[in-house]
Amino acid sequence: MATYSDVEQNLVPEGGQDLPATPIPVVVSGAWGKMGRETVAALQAAPQLQLVARIDPSLRDSPDSDAFADLDALMAADIVDPKNTRTVFVDFTRPDVVAQNLKQALPLGFDCVVGTTGLSQESLTLLEKMIYDDRCLFIAPNFAIGAVLMMQLAQQVVAYLPTVEIIELHHDNKLDAPSGTAKRTAELLACARRRALPDFKSAAPGAESELPDGAGARGAAVDDIPIHSVRLPGYVAHQEVIFGGCGQTLTIRHDSINRSSFMPGVVLACQQVIEYSGLIIGLENLLPSRPVCD
Ligand code: NAD
Repeated sequence: MATYSDVEQNLVPEGGQDLPATPIPVVVSGAWGKMGRETVAALQAAPQLQLVARIDPSLRDSPDSDAFADLDALMAADIVDPKNTRTVFVDFTRPDVVAQNLKQALPLGFDCVVGTTGLSQESLTLLEKMIYDDRCLFIAPNFAIGAVLMMQLAQQVVAYLPTVEIIELHHDNKLDAPSGTAKRTAELLACARRRALPDFKSAAPGAESELPDGAGARGAAVDDIPIHSVRLPGYVAHQEVIFGGCGQTLTIRHDSINRSSFMPGVVLACQQVIEYSGLIIGLENLLPSRPVCD
């Protein structure tokens, strides 16, 4: 189990000292799932956050006063008032229900922190319009700090080694492929590559437009970057970004060896989201900047 007080010391920027005296109320949706339970434990150990409700259809028959089957039941209980007190709604549910959950939570005035993957661009455009007043919809394809740094480092490398492929490896119960992290990495790499090298033409067979996305052993092309998805028992969440150059390769690899790896980022997002407005994608937007040597 991670020490969440260390997390706060390490990640909450200077302004963190001015965090409100009253803990921020947080609701967890998908609270009975693997990520939801880990999140509940992390929130209970975070002094600036107060877990006020757990929502999950699996909690329908729970005798606990903080357990609700759905958001309607929570609102009927009248224990949160998100339009008057900034209240965080964390979603770790399923790709097929997350959009509907947010369509309900956003107009109610919740600040939303979303880890569930699989939201389409069309959904995001629609959901952005449903944000109440100055509230925030924060989405992180990956809450692990190491994975965020992997994406940032990869953008620096692609300007010099533009031929790149991604291998992502996850547990066999993962519902979506490629992973949200792999898609986000590909989009960031493609953007950085276009900016640095506008004339670069991808030679990777998996990236040729005549090959349908998702077909064949050379992977699925996302924004001209091939992604290979492995689904096997034994894995949690892992990704390699492999750059090929003249007589050399460079690999950046990140491994989440258990779900506690995501919790520092989840806690940080719950603490910070109420300071922001509108749609924000990516934990990198909330990380404090740190000096490096010249
Ligand atoms: P899980 O299947 O263990 O849990 C999902 C839970 O959601 C279940 O308990 C289910 O009963 C509940 N649920 C279903 N419909 C619901 C609804 N309408 N309202 C509330 N709860 C509902 O899945 P998991 O492994 O916990 O993963 C959840 C999501 O988080 C997946 O999309 C996964 O890809 C994603 N994930 C994201 C990150 C990240 O860093 N962003 C990390 C790991 C997993």
